[in-house]
Amino acid sequence: MTAPITLPSDADHSGRDFGDEELTLLREVIASGTLNCTKGTQVKELEKAVAARYGVPYARAVTSGTAAIHCAVAAIDPEPGDEIVTTAITDMGGIAPILYQGAIPIFADVDPMTLNVTPEAVAARISKRTRAVIATHLFGNPCDVAGIKAVADRHGIPVIEDCAQAFLATVNGRLVGTVGAIGAFSLQQGKHMTTGEGGLVITSDPALARHMILFSDKAWGYGDPQPDHYFLALNYRMTDLQGAVARAQLAKLDGVVERRRRSAEQLSARLAGTPGLSLPQPAPHATHVYWKYPLIVDPAVIRGGADALGGALKANGVFCAPRYIQKPAFECEVFTKRKTFGKSRFPYSYREREDGTKIVYDAADYPGTVRGLERVVVLPWNEFYTDEHVAFIASAVQNAVAELTRKAARNA
Ligand SMILES: *Cc1c(COP(=O)(O)O)cnc(C)c1O
Repeated sequence: MTAPITLPSDADHSGRDFGDEELTLLREVIASGTLNCTKGTQVKELEKAVAARYGVPYARAVTSGTAAIHCAVAAIDPEPGDEIVTTAITDMGGIAPILYQGAIPIFADVDPMTLNVTPEAVAARISKRTRAVIATHLFGNPCDVAGIKAVADRHGIPVIEDCAQAFLATVNGRLVGTVGAIGAFSLQQGKHMTTGEGGLVITSDPALARHMILFSDKAWGYGDPQPDHYFLALNYRMTDLQGAVARAQLAKLDGVVERRRRSAEQLSARLAGTPGLSLPQPAPHATHVYWKYPLIVDPAVIRGGADALGGALKANGVFCAPRYIQKPAFECEVFTKRKTFGKSRFPYSYREREDGTKIVYDAADYPGTVRGLERVVVLPWNEFYTDEHVAFIASAVQNAVAELTRKAARNA
């Protein structure tokens, strides 16, 4: 057995690329005395650079990935009780904004191998009240967003792409985030590029862009002849300190993605053919950017399945998350108890009064979601992984599998 080594972590300097590039821009901000984006230049430059890198006319920087999704949902401007189709395997920040805008999340099932939503599952959940689809690219592996967009187009509704985990991932040579009407990103500590907390939205649609810019700034019409607070909105403005860090991070993003891809592909080569394991497999014409490296474990081959493999890996110094978020999002209390605004159960109660619709979230309707979560072991991934780190992870996985399959064979 290989002696344990400490892997770089995205929680600290060992696995994050911060240096003089960030400090130089931060010093400029401090020297200028202007820390906010309204008067400062960093966030404005960041927005230009993001738009240019993505080849879209509009980018807006906000305070988090949650705020980015909130801006996107607000721009769709659903009526209370309208529905937005999304996935139950995502960060709660990708879902909560739907409820805050008075709309109801409707979950589509996922492919149990990729844990991504599929066009068929989305199509099955669209009703006459559906106002948008959120397509999440989980772990950095693009979902079939073109197929999902084709379904949405048939119903005349937009697709919001949640790209928080999928910076620079592509489908058919196109960056994810530019296929749907809006792309939303997170700059949280663990994402491909980070400002600690932060978010971005991009779009090619001028009306959506204007709505998102207004929504992130109290809907005050800066620069308009007769500005006003046009509608209910929040302050999601990014500071120029974050803007400075994000500009430096953006310049490093292509390299970060390339290094993650190269090391992840090395792990895949080392683990190819391991019994009971399915490795990440991007769809044809898609590129995976490996925010995480998910393994799908076959419990018929590996005794104890994902939990046992995860336990064995952790015991050998490889941190991992068996079952990822543990349970589908709709099994969290916010949904099971409808804990939203006071005791109102809004917007569910509103919809019940309006047309008698009772929304039921039942795990039995989500076989792919349940099976995917049961079988996945998520390995953290990092742009600072060396050949030695990859070899260490590969041998830990292989040793654990060997141990657990031998037991399975003995007990069979
Ligand atoms: C990280 C993440 C979010 C939320 O981003 P925050 O910056 O933490 O608010 C939303 N969706 C997905 C898929 C994420 O991974």
